[in-house]
Amino acid sequence: MSKDYDRYLGMDRPIARRDFINGAAVVIGGALFAGTTLGEGGPGIEPSNQADDDPPVLTGLRGSHPGSFETAHSLRDGTFWKTAPAPVDTKEAYDLVLVGAGISGLSAAHFFREHVGKSSRILLLENHDDFGGHAKRNEFHLGGKLQLCNGGTLLIDSPTPYSRQADGLLKKLGIDPPRLEEATADRTLYPSLELKPALFFDRGTFGSDKLLVGVPGGGRGWPHESEKAKTWKDFLADAPLSEAVREDIARIEESKTDYMPGFTSTEKKARLSKMSYRDFLLNIAKANPGVIPFYQTRTHGEWGVGIDAEPALDCWAIGLPGFQSMHLEPGAAPNMSYSAAGYANGGSYRYHFPDGNATIARLLVRDLIPEAIPGHSVEDIVTARADYSKLDEPASLIRLRLNSTVVAARNVGKPTAAQEVEVTYTRGKDLFKVHAKSCVLACWNMMIPFLCPELPEKQKEALHYLVKVPLVYGTVGIRNWTAFRKLGIQSVRALGSYWDSVSLNAAINIGDYHSPKSPEEPILLHLSRTPCKPGLPAREQHKAGRMELLVTSFEDFERKTRDQLARILGPGGFDPAEDIEAITINRWPHGYGYEYNPLFDPNWPEAERPNVIGRKKFGRIAIANTDSGATAYTDVAIDQAYRAVQELLTA
Ligand SMILES: Cc1cc2nc3c(=O)[nH]c(=O)nc-3n(C[C@H](O)[C@H](O)[C@H](O)COP(=O)(O)OP(=O)(O)OC[C@H]3O[C@@H](n4cnc5c(N)ncnc54)[C@H](O)[C@@H]3O)c2cc1C
Repeated sequence: MSKDYDRYLGMDRPIARRDFINGAAVVIGGALFAGTTLGEGGPGIEPSNQADDDPPVLTGLRGSHPGSFETAHSLRDGTFWKTAPAPVDTKEAYDLVLVGAGISGLSAAHFFREHVGKSSRILLLENHDDFGGHAKRNEFHLGGKLQLCNGGTLLIDSPTPYSRQADGLLKKLGIDPPRLEEATADRTLYPSLELKPALFFDRGTFGSDKLLVGVPGGGRGWPHESEKAKTWKDFLADAPLSEAVREDIARIEESKTDYMPGFTSTEKKARLSKMSYRDFLLNIAKANPGVIPFYQTRTHGEWGVGIDAEPALDCWAIGLPGFQSMHLEPGAAPNMSYSAAGYANGGSYRYHFPDGNATIARLLVRDLIPEAIPGHSVEDIVTARADYSKLDEPASLIRLRLNSTVVAARNVGKPTAAQEVEVTYTRGKDLFKVHAKSCVLACWNMMIPFLCPELPEKQKEALHYLVKVPLVYGTVGIRNWTAFRKLGIQSVRALGSYWDSVSLNAAINIGDYHSPKSPEEPILLHLSRTPCKPGLPAREQHKAGRMELLVTSFEDFERKTRDQLARILGPGGFDPAEDIEAITINRWPHGYGYEYNPLFDPNWPEAERPNVIGRKKFGRIAIANTDSGATAYTDVAIDQAYRAVQELLTA
């Protein structure tokens, strides 16, 4: 792109904390990565954080931020131990050490203390500069007003109803999703301003940029009557597509054809489970190949790959079109993915906090370390400021240590007879050792073979199988949303663009937190991208996507963000240089936990599934995280925490 265009985009403009970008971690992590020293205050080390630390307000490159993953990668590459200093023994001793302070690690701490008692000594070690793992809070102060967005885990929502343990934990934390949905979610604000879902066709794929507003039927949850009546033929009349392609999309969207006549519902489902949605469209619905770019990314948000790599039956389960007249009976069938089968059977309750499930993580931290976050209710935690200096106090029974990457967890003595685990971790350039009666690895499971090289080979192989799904969420603060108002749009599915979707932040009013109501006020935008490589098997697509994320600089993310917003919103008067106030890129090279894909993975019996083999307890070390449930949901993170703790307590 030319310098003039860069100037038009505002690449030369200072935005909030932009200058810290690739050093962002250096602000928070920086004090640590410059090398820590042993604390003066006795056997422990310096507290992780200072009172003025506030990681949620950092902008720039967040998610897996610089400084959080380099140690893990050098461990993977076999270079770490070649230069590692001798570990310093902190002499700290705990009943339980948890590796990973995501929702699974925090829940495991909660369950352990609940079973063992209030006097349990627990340490959580986390490699990021904030707790919550994927459940990350993005906090902005635009025009002096607090605005929140989820940096990762979006909402309480699962393919299956929350289990007794997971629902029970939410209740103990004061979370009642149906009540909160009713009391705090503002579903009328955007419709009352006549803002609608839209599609944007990107010129790189479709030849010209085009925004079409008011998707027929409106999409999930959209109650606008006029759009219900609109036909796809009319809606697509100005789309940059040939007439034949427009007709075929309209035929699929309003399908009146049984594309598999003569088969029973069971037989149809069996056939649909063995072909991709792409193949269904091309070979069964006999659609023009020109429809594929229109549908390609529809499965990105759910599974992290496009329709080339997702079974047609799974796509039916999440509501993709083409099946309306095929007389498929409701409910799950054999050979479906976990998500598709669950959603076909009805799914769970849903609720979105302003910072996503980061509120669950914060409630768990307040439950474990009350001094760190003030307040008592699910409403007041939304605006409460955490005091990070209280997370790791030597006098506390429960301590949470950030910026600490665990590099080894070792049973002392034979695993079958071990009474102690030694856990070694880095902070900055230093290496420390702590001692525990038990350990739960609530971290990303593919990391575990490097932490416990003495695991059986079969278990290590199983753990390596679980390739996490890369994703990136952008949060953009803008001066006002008059362009959205003028164009009549609330959310945009962008076809063929860099970001798959761009939406106004969800409108929620909870406690002292109030979403902006007037288009003249600043607001946050939520953007989402799923990097993958169509045509490859799903796990290979995830690996390719991860590489893409790791080599993309913040400057590239910023330029693509400004360019896309300018092209979508420019006709509504949006000025990318003037109107963008802050950008946070939540980069998750290791995102969703891997869910088996019926097109690529064998239909193993339960006991032979890699996640089941991989999560076996090893001496005094148990394994949690959503990975060990082979899927990516908060309820599963909690359930796996419960199981791991039970395994330790019953051993
Ligand atoms: C972008 C995105 C959106 C999502 N949206 C939803 C949603 O809407 N609803 C939903 O239910 N789920 C969603 N998920 C799935 C999400 O993964 C789970 O809901 C849940 O937050 C996972 O919790 P966890 O503790 O199992 O894992 P994580 O949140 O990944 O936590 C594990 C932690 O362990 C740390 N760690 C790893 N290795 C080490 C080490 N060696 N030393 C120290 N720490 C280590 C990691 O850095 C991480 O912080 C989403 C995930 C992503 C990435």
